[in-house]
Amino acid sequence: MPNFYDDNPDLRFNLDQAPLAEIARLREHEFAEAGQYPYAPRDAADAVENYHETLRIVGDIAGDFIAPRAEDVDREGAKWHDGVVTYAKGTSEALDRLSGADLMGFTLPRQYGGLYLPHTTYAAAIEMVSRGDAALMTLFGLGDIAETILRFASDELKDKYLPRFATGEATGAMVLTEPDAGSDLQAVRLKASPDPSDPNLWRLNGVKRFITNGCGDILLVLARSEEGTRDGRGLSLFLAEKGPGLRVRRIEDKLGIHGSPTCELQFTNCPAWLVGRRRFGLIKYTMDLMNGARLAIAAQSVGICEAAYREALAYAHSREQFGKAIIHFPALADLLIGMRLKLELARTLTIDCGVAVDFEKEYEARPADKALYKKWHGYASSLTPMAKYYASEAAVELSNSALAVLGGSGFMRDYPIERYLRDARITNIYEGTSQLQVVAILAGLLGGDLDSLFADFAARPYTGATARHLPAVAEALGLFNKAMDYVRQRAERDYTDLVARHLADMAIDVYSAFRLMQFGEVSESKAMLADLFVPAMSRRVRAAHDAATSGNRLVLDTYQTLLAQA
Ligand SMILES: Cc1cc2nc3c(=O)[nH]c(=O)nc-3n(C[C@H](O)[C@H](O)[C@H](O)COP(=O)(O)OP(=O)(O)OC[C@H]3O[C@@H](n4cnc5c(N)ncnc54)[C@H](O)[C@@H]3O)c2cc1C
Repeated sequence: MPNFYDDNPDLRFNLDQAPLAEIARLREHEFAEAGQYPYAPRDAADAVENYHETLRIVGDIAGDFIAPRAEDVDREGAKWHDGVVTYAKGTSEALDRLSGADLMGFTLPRQYGGLYLPHTTYAAAIEMVSRGDAALMTLFGLGDIAETILRFASDELKDKYLPRFATGEATGAMVLTEPDAGSDLQAVRLKASPDPSDPNLWRLNGVKRFITNGCGDILLVLARSEEGTRDGRGLSLFLAEKGPGLRVRRIEDKLGIHGSPTCELQFTNCPAWLVGRRRFGLIKYTMDLMNGARLAIAAQSVGICEAAYREALAYAHSREQFGKAIIHFPALADLLIGMRLKLELARTLTIDCGVAVDFEKEYEARPADKALYKKWHGYASSLTPMAKYYASEAAVELSNSALAVLGGSGFMRDYPIERYLRDARITNIYEGTSQLQVVAILAGLLGGDLDSLFADFAARPYTGATARHLPAVAEALGLFNKAMDYVRQRAERDYTDLVARHLADMAIDVYSAFRLMQFGEVSESKAMLADLFVPAMSRRVRAAHDAATSGNRLVLDTYQTLLAQA
């Protein structure tokens, strides 16, 4: 099988366009760890070379080891027996291989045994692993659990648990959802009570459901620590270990990602340790954890898009009907070009989001750069739900389109497309459904998070063939700004919610048009894609503007009648 890094020029192109050397300079603090750790870089060039080399190793494992096992993993699935979960054979083998290559502590500091690589490169690694097997990503891409411990837990907890993540000896789980608390995590009820025998110890009691890898060794659990409270301010985050007091009651029988166990957990006086401060569990730590995980899901989605697009493209070249390869039928060429466009835009949004997260985290640690932190925090806050929303919707659409390209064969298990489609369908549900991503995007847009970015994009000079698109893209930006002003002035919560999706789609369309124009300056194929994208983008943005500013409240006024319970 090919190396998933070497065979993917667009992934490498996006990384080449990303300011990796600048990120390395910030991250490595004068490259002080060179000489202290074998893999620590000497300078920015050394660091960037190291990033590419590591991604090449991931690409090799993903293409050569993970992808060939994915079908068996899907058929075998994770198993549950009497409270014990067993991974499919291929899942265990792949985890061993990734651990053996020291890849499980991808972003963790070297002092804990990690590789200390940027989040941008982690997104690229997750994409490749997911292209091989989307289910495996839910075990490889759990780095944000360790990152949350790193950012908010005590030194004692960090020293005890982080090295276990880095070696791959331990896997984790983020334990948030309950039967009555899904999108609305403020409703979490699982109870945390202080243990009178030890001031540092807490006891957890209650049930959690739909927990990916809930059978893992180290769990971050959102629980109600403040008796009598009902909202998010009564919730704290706890670290619990697999062991007495924690039982996997069952695993779900589900549509896709069969290699990933989705567990129902029963906590009975389970010992746990507080992470960070009481009452900050949801409003700070879980939000941080989920933002990291959303970037990971965006990358997972891009991996599925890549796999589906490649399978469809190969089939369209080889399958003949009416005396010619089906790729020569205009309808199929149009479909496939649309797929390529979405795949590449999803990747750019995801890598850009990784860059924003890297800068956000680096500047956060530098009090002198408060303004830069604020800027990148705003970009990361908006680009994260934008990437998650766009890429996950693209994964569902592309795997469905790929199935269409294969015709009846796509419906059969002889080809991996039906698996991609089943696996893709989780990406726009977990870590917040698309509706919830739209809510988050809108909050950022209303707060002006991307205003300076769009202003910079519009003010920047454009050269080459794509420069001629500037008037159309500037017009689209103007329409987007007008629609935002309209919604702000109208200030009706239900109307804003009703048209939120139009506003989010406009923002992503305008952002993508600018990025394609920028990339088109240095890449002929991106310039061609810009030629295809911009006219369609203009039409969509005009329609979305008209819908958002129509003032049409018919859905709000009629749904209680039209959708009365049957
Ligand atoms: C395979 C799988 C793995 C998972 N892994 C984990 C995990 O590791 N850890 C964990 O804690 N959870 C996990 N989850 C849970 C997942 O995050 C939730 O399923 C998801 O957040 C949605 O919650 P829900 O299923 O309760 O749906 P609900 O919240 O009941 O939503 C139902 C519908 O209402 C919509 N809706 C709800 N609120 C709003 C709103 N304000 N505006 C507009 N629409 C809204 C939703 O978009 C959705 O369409 C997993 C779920 C699955 C299926």
